[in-house]
Amino acid sequence: MGAKSKTKQTFSFDIKLGRNLATSITFTFSMVARSNNIRMLEKKVENFNMNRVIDEFEEMTRNADQVQKQTLKEILHKNKSAIYLQNFGINGNTTDPEAFKALVPLVTDLDLEPYIKRMVDGDTSPILTALPVPAISLSSGTSQGRPKFIPFTDELMENTLQLFRTAFAFRNRDFPIDDNGRALQFIFSSKQYISKGGVPVGTATTNVYRNPNFKAGMKAIQSLCCSPDEVIFSPEVHQALYCHLLSGILFRDQVQYVFASFAHGLVHAFRTFEQLWEEVVTDIEDGVLSSRITVPSVRTAMAKLLSGPNPELAETIRTKCMSLSNWYGLIPALFPNAKYVYGIMTGSMEPYVKKLRHYAGELPLVSHDYGSSEGWIAANVRPRLSPEEATFAVVPNLGYFEFLPLSETGDTEQEPPVGLTEVKIGQEYEVVITNYAGLYRYRLGDVVKIVGFYNKTPQLKFICRRNLILSINIDKNTERDLQMSVESAAKRLAEEKIEVIDFSSHVDVSTEPGHYVIYWEISGETGDDVLQDCCNCLDKGFIDAGYMSSRKCKTIGALELRVVERGTFRKVQEHFLGLGSSAGQFKMPRCVKPNNVKVLQILCDNVVSRFFSTAFE
Ligand code: AMP
Repeated sequence: MGAKSKTKQTFSFDIKLGRNLATSITFTFSMVARSNNIRMLEKKVENFNMNRVIDEFEEMTRNADQVQKQTLKEILHKNKSAIYLQNFGINGNTTDPEAFKALVPLVTDLDLEPYIKRMVDGDTSPILTALPVPAISLSSGTSQGRPKFIPFTDELMENTLQLFRTAFAFRNRDFPIDDNGRALQFIFSSKQYISKGGVPVGTATTNVYRNPNFKAGMKAIQSLCCSPDEVIFSPEVHQALYCHLLSGILFRDQVQYVFASFAHGLVHAFRTFEQLWEEVVTDIEDGVLSSRITVPSVRTAMAKLLSGPNPELAETIRTKCMSLSNWYGLIPALFPNAKYVYGIMTGSMEPYVKKLRHYAGELPLVSHDYGSSEGWIAANVRPRLSPEEATFAVVPNLGYFEFLPLSETGDTEQEPPVGLTEVKIGQEYEVVITNYAGLYRYRLGDVVKIVGFYNKTPQLKFICRRNLILSINIDKNTERDLQMSVESAAKRLAEEKIEVIDFSSHVDVSTEPGHYVIYWEISGETGDDVLQDCCNCLDKGFIDAGYMSSRKCKTIGALELRVVERGTFRKVQEHFLGLGSSAGQFKMPRCVKPNNVKVLQILCDNVVSRFFSTAFE
């Protein structure tokens, strides 16, 4: 084969791998104008074919390296007029990854803040991307204590649907669901506001749910929501949650799986059901919606769904609820045809898995994929793995990925990042992304561990957010370390049949020496001796050498456990929702920084008892 024809063949092959997950015909159209793009997306989802999606993923991952190069080329080509890239000397001819890396620096969200601010303020010049930016995503921001703004583009939406299709194809191969089934999805579209520059701003999930292609995409993968749109878009989240629960029960025989973005959302939903179930049953019995639903559009939509009294269904639910022991197996009891429970259960969601497993009974828990407001990264293509074992395969055409090696001390500064196919099994890395949202060599701040390869693409495990959350002097503790300490201390509590409902922490340097404070909300009352044991256990649970030596030589003071009143963490969540965070995307801040005065105040105002560790005396 001559050089010319070889080049041509590679090009069409790369392109097919690069941007298509339906058919090569639809792909050809994806190269045409954006207005056609939307139509094409709808067509694409109509054509969903499980085996084809899996085959294409196989092919793409077998050629991960080539797909990466092609993806970078396409990103740079589409953004050749972006001011940011031009400032670094990138022009339309730069396609080579090495040249790109030599010219464009690694950045964090802080570096991009001034550029994104211009976009939020209405500057429509091609600042970070030459592609239109129809909305800005507001990341939950709970980890950093402040919201982050990220451009949301049509390409990101297309990536989202691609990832949903891929993950669904693999899930459906292992846990096939019935045609015409539905999904009980606890999804909430928080308010989108218009910035003073005229740009819609909302959480990433809000931007996805509001996109015209979302509903068609869900329908194609047999995941149509039980609840009417009015519920998803309700301005009031408590009412929306109640209606999601009620809608799910009305469609109980059709419900094929139960979903929330994060495990916290699932646990919160069923804890709420425990409290409100009798009201839900009464609504069904009488065919009249509870007066707690006051949003007119939601009332109208739900009244239509209720459509008259259904005493038989009410009685079934009542009997089921009353026969459960401590609500074990609530989900399959309510939804007899559900095949699995789905949501992010890894990383900071691990503390909720135990409770979720209790509600799910024998139903499998399937871990949702790995992504962020900045863009999707990896799909769960091994859905049978438990949340503790879950891994994610990087999808090579969602962006150009680099991995910054972490040294044993957690530093990233020593070695340069490596490419997608160059990562080493067993090594931890910080993820760096270049994608269609105008992010170039952007440090995501997440730490992942490579546990293997799926064809040539890495399979990774999410470890934690990179930022250290607890550090006073030479001690370095991450969210993961805190989580492990809480888990070990919670075992002592479990002996008393009490659970940790939620937790957070902060570093108190107002005392000399400074010390760690851990806030716990627990499910029942117990003796001070038990809580004192837990406090000591928490202190001993931080096994970082810097912490232990500082504790021994008393350069860090005794760890303090503060038990807060029931409902305190709900108040914290409500505070964040009030700031525009979405109920579906919410992640409890595991460490409250001193500048987060309001959250600290909520926690401090609700302390019912305090204990100081004696573990190092
Ligand atoms: P947000 O900024 O609100 O879009 O949240 C994105 C962050 O959530 C990511 O950067 C991760 O830290 C976390 N996250 C997303 N997917 C997963 C997952 N599958 N497992 C654990 N953490 C995740």
